[in-house]
Parts: sequence; C-alpha cells; structure tokens
Amino acid sequence: MNIHPSPSASFLAAQYAAVQARIDAACAAHGRVRAQVQLLAVSKTFPAQAVQSLAELGHTAFGENYVQEGVDKITHLAPHWPHLDWHFIGPLQSNKTRKVAEHFAWVHSVDRLSVAQRLAQQRPPHLPALRVCLQVNISAEASKSGVAPEQLLPLAQAVLGLPRLHLCGLMAIPEPSADLAHMRQRFAQVRECRDQLEQRLGWALPTLSMGMSEDLEPAIAEGATWIRVGRALFGARTPVQSPPEL
Ligand SMILES: *Cc1c(COP(=O)(O)O)cnc(C)c1O
Repeated sequence: MNIHPSPSASFLAAQYAAVQARIDAACAAHGRVRAQVQLLAVSKTFPAQAVQSLAELGHTAFGENYVQEGVDKITHLAPHWPHLDWHFIGPLQSNKTRKVAEHFAWVHSVDRLSVAQRLAQQRPPHLPALRVCLQVNISAEASKSGVAPEQLLPLAQAVLGLPRLHLCGLMAIPEPSADLAHMRQRFAQVRECRDQLEQRLGWALPTLSMGMSEDLEPAIAEGATWIRVGRALFGARTPVQSPPEL
C-alpha cells in the first residue's frame, strides 16, 4: 500500500473549508437541514498526520477502506485522539472482519450475511454495537460490490437478528457520470430502496451513505446523510511510481 506524504495543515484547512462550503450550499439549494448531512473524511492512502490535521480543526469522522492501513492509523492516533469515529467503507473479506469489529465504529459496506455474522460474533462486548449499512448495487454491474436491490430484504432481516450490530441504513457507489441529472436519478433510487426497506422491516433506517468528491451535491439533493469525501479534502491519490528495475 502506497501512503502519500501528508498535505500541509494549511492546505487541509483550506480544502476542509471549501468542502464545508459546498455542503452548506447544497443543503441551502435543496432544502436539507445542514446538521443532517455529515462529512466522512476518507483518509485512505493518506498518513495519520493528515488525519491529525483535520482532527485539530475539530473533525472527528474518518473513513478507511483497507483494513490494515486503517487499523495502523487508528492505533497510532488512539493515545492522543481517542474520540475519533472510524468508519470502514471498503470491500470486506471474511478473514479480515475481526480487526474491523475490534477497531471501527461503523461499517458501510456489508453486502453478505457471512460477513455480518462474523462482525457480530467478533464485536467486543465492551464496545457499543457496531453500526452497519448494507451496500446496495444500484447500477447492477456484476463487477461492483453490493447486494442487488431484490436481495436487500432477506439480508436486512437476517442482520436485524444478529447481536452487537445496529442496522442504520444503506450505502451505495453508483457508477460515476459527469451527468449530474443521471447521478441524481441513481441516488434517488437508493433513497427509494431505503424507504421501501424501512417500511417492510418496520425498522428505522435513517442513514444514506452516498456521494463522494465529484457528486456530493446530487447526493445531498436526494437525501444523503453521510457523504464520503477523499480527494476534495486530501488532494489527488496519485499512484506512486515504483522505482525502476535494476
Ligand atoms: C475512496 C472512496 C471514497 C472517496 O472518494 P473520493 O472520490 O476521493 O471523494 C468514498 N467511498 C468509498 C467507498 C471509497 O472507496
């Protein structure tokens, strides 16, 4: 895993203010209550120092999508920053669930029962219930992770029966498009899935985790409660060049 050097504190402060301004503007434009849209700072590929710079500005919610990289940052920062909220947002393999259950507060990307069962078994009893979202595959692309909309109900029912997990809502990553109207349609579909599921389960699903750097505005327009923002905060994730072979 290539870790970028940390951007400077002043760069991060400026990016942070710019993203907050985008969220404010989108909420104003679409009649959303600002306090109901939360910013998840996706710190993957950036070092603990970058997280600390945002924490010093008062930010507390961070997202990671590689287990070991996330756990390294969490354990490094924990002594001085015990109150950060860490969200796991990446594809999760069964053999990596224990570290996620032990170190994270949220998992956005649950898409199969076996993973949910392991998280439930492995969540330490002294910690609050692990908050989980089900990842739904709206675009129906075979290559993307996420459960098909018609599989949501049985999965959600099973997850509700598990101890130590709290089912909060849905997460989605629609395929990116420069056409914002198209993105809005996709995000609206996620919200409709959530509304239907909530009704069928008789269980509140307040969380909609959707929208990233490029499409946070259409996501907010359609009801996002967590937007997951990486590049607009930390800068581009450039693949680091490997050294030339000798
Ligand atoms: C990387 C990542 C993000 C952030 O994407 P940006 O385009 O950098 O804002 C959001 N969600 C998930 C699941 C990711 O892996």
